[in-house]
Amino acid sequence: MTQHTTTVAGVEVDTRHWIGGARVASAETFADLSPIDGATLGEIARGGAAEAEAAVAAAEAAFPAWAATPRAERARILHAIADGVEKRIEDLAKVETLDNGALLRSHRRGVMPRVAHNFRFFADWLLTLGHEDFDTRGHTNQVSWDPAGPCVLITPWNAPLMLATWKVAPALAAGNTVILKPAEWSPLTASLLADIAAEAGLPAGVLNVVQGYGAEVGNALVSHPGVRRISFTGSVPTAKRIAAAAAANLTPLSLELGGKSPLLVFADADLDLAADLAVEQYDNAGQVCLAATRLLVESSVAEEFTRRFVERAEALVQGDSRDGASDLGPNIHPRQLEKIDGFVRRALDGGARAVIGGGPNTDLGGLYYRPTLLTGVAQDSEIVQEEVFGPVLTLQTFDTEAEAVELANDTRFGLAATLATGDPECAERVSAQLVAGTVWVNCFFVRDLQAPFGGSRHSGVGREGGTWSFDFYCDVKNTVTAPKGWKDH
Ligand code: NAD
Repeated sequence: MTQHTTTVAGVEVDTRHWIGGARVASAETFADLSPIDGATLGEIARGGAAEAEAAVAAAEAAFPAWAATPRAERARILHAIADGVEKRIEDLAKVETLDNGALLRSHRRGVMPRVAHNFRFFADWLLTLGHEDFDTRGHTNQVSWDPAGPCVLITPWNAPLMLATWKVAPALAAGNTVILKPAEWSPLTASLLADIAAEAGLPAGVLNVVQGYGAEVGNALVSHPGVRRISFTGSVPTAKRIAAAAAANLTPLSLELGGKSPLLVFADADLDLAADLAVEQYDNAGQVCLAATRLLVESSVAEEFTRRFVERAEALVQGDSRDGASDLGPNIHPRQLEKIDGFVRRALDGGARAVIGGGPNTDLGGLYYRPTLLTGVAQDSEIVQEEVFGPVLTLQTFDTEAEAVELANDTRFGLAATLATGDPECAERVSAQLVAGTVWVNCFFVRDLQAPFGGSRHSGVGREGGTWSFDFYCDVKNTVTAPKGWKDH
């Protein structure tokens, strides 16, 4: 008999879909493996067209009542979901760690509290989301944000619950119903979120979670004409497929994609800070869309910067993500490790030099890749132009501010950029010229949910955060009312 639950780190997780307030099995399943030791964590329901159809039907049926639920009540339920997340931080952190291999200590202290915050933030923002009123020759214009309908949310594996709830929370707050399709390499915490939401009193069908492969259930969902919004975080090739499917129904979509972001280190920078910022780019074993993987360093300080960087990078501890001493865990999947190594091998064959790293960590075995820094790389080479999504950085030098900006902007991406400089005027001049959704000056990864987040060029379409999220998840309407007794046309 097929098992419908699995126990991961002592936590029971349902491996079926969550559709219309009920657990639904599929005839087929797929194995979910842990990147830490390759163990099978569970056999997960493998959804297809039928499950996509059922989930959209459930979301359509639940939509009118949820859209009509007073904002204060929707906000109350979102806060109750946040309470549920906070109560289960330890469970969520342990399960996520085994499922995607990121550090347990980050999940406990940073990621899962932030998941709860995602719900609280959008619940509170909803209550301040204003009706804008203005006057045109005595007529009132009243702008309102109407919920759009069923939203399909498709998310990646590198920060599964965090990225899912950036979307789930504003979509629900706005009065929409949701179908969440988590990545097949990290499906477990989405299932726990369904339990938490149900316990918090979210009505049946308002949040649905379907499991399975992108090409199967994912494609069926994004192709469905009943879907009113698609929000996707993932890779560029998948985004193109989703955009093509969405085009057939003219479904509005938001795309948060990859990056090849630069860290610009100017000669007047605090070099210790710059080296700290650079080493941070190895976080999550380099599987961070925002990672500044191209270090661009002013020639006069390149040697000293490299010395301080290498000192720090060599002190990083690589090991089991559950161990509090580890700084870097494994990469997600054997295929990802192969992909990372392929990029590095081709760069080395093309004349690059590995200052540190340059291959898998054979002492540890498994899916660990050594933190790597490559020099001697050409601007038009694959390693400088393509997203590796592993602990691999390149270092190039520049001599002038103009050259720094030119190198920084010379990719098809535009997600983020980081500057290290002691000169505020240089920071202002340079950041104004960079093509990037976010520029950090002398800092990295500081993100307020009020701020717009997203990428330019191939890094994405649209912005998430604060008002931008509500603008996307709502049909914004203007109602124009004539004054009493107005007859003239
Ligand atoms: P991916 O594109 O392979 O998969 C992402 C999701 O899309 C998964 O759930 C997958 O099942 C689904 N999918 C695949 N094909 C589909 C299809 N035809 N129709 C519908 N859904 C489909 O990406 P990934 O490897 O999981 O994630 C890594 C990528 O995500 C990197 O490029 C990274 O930069 C990017 N990312 C971007 C951000 C951001 O905010 N900009 C954040 C995190 C990750």
